[in-house]
Amino acid sequence: MPVALPRAGMAVDSTLLNTMRVAKETVVAIEYTLKDDQGNIIDASGDRGPMEYLHGAQNIIPGLEQGIDGLVAGDTKNVLVPPQLGYGEYSEKLIQLVPLTAFGANTPQVGMRFHAETNLGMRVLTIKKIEGEEVTLDGNHELAGKTLHFDIKVVSVRAAEPTELAHGHPHQSGGCCGVGGCGSGEASGGGCCSTEEGSEGGCCSTEEPAAQKQGGCGSGGCGCS
Ligand SMILES: [Zn+2]
Repeated sequence: MPVALPRAGMAVDSTLLNTMRVAKETVVAIEYTLKDDQGNIIDASGDRGPMEYLHGAQNIIPGLEQGIDGLVAGDTKNVLVPPQLGYGEYSEKLIQLVPLTAFGANTPQVGMRFHAETNLGMRVLTIKKIEGEEVTLDGNHELAGKTLHFDIKVVSVRAAEPTELAHGHPHQSGGCCGVGGCGSGEASGGGCCSTEEGSEGGCCSTEEPAAQKQGGCGSGGCGCS
């Protein structure tokens, strides 16, 4: 579940009238709907409100970032993102078998997802199958191999603050983990911290916006503790 609704409009009103173009070192807020090839809605900013990100800082998948480049507030666009510019091709190499005993006292269940350190870095692993004493883990992103169809609307574009550039992500109402950030329930999609998952795997709630790059929060995330 999203931790809290962002304060829609907060950072938006004062910038609606400008014509700053989306470029490196701008903070962009977008509304989006993401569909698959069949037109099924996979994710949408909807009730979460606009998603803010720092352009050029790999906060979001490359294909979407490229599609937004150069737009101004108010623009709408359909952005088609092939797998190689999205969540990658589906790779059999990311399937691995581990013994049931690796879970210790925990009871693994098919469909469970968790963060784990792998030889490809921190990834989200999904339990695909449990057979006898063997558990099949899948390190592919759930959207790997999929062509993504984004309908986006640029809500606002503003110059990034120096601290945002330093951290590699946007700050909202008082900062990253300061007032309005971590713990106060104000972290939005694209934000830093959630109260739910502070330990392993970093800052984000488990339900990350699909437009956001996997690991964007944990790895590039709020190093501002
Ligand atoms: Zn920060």
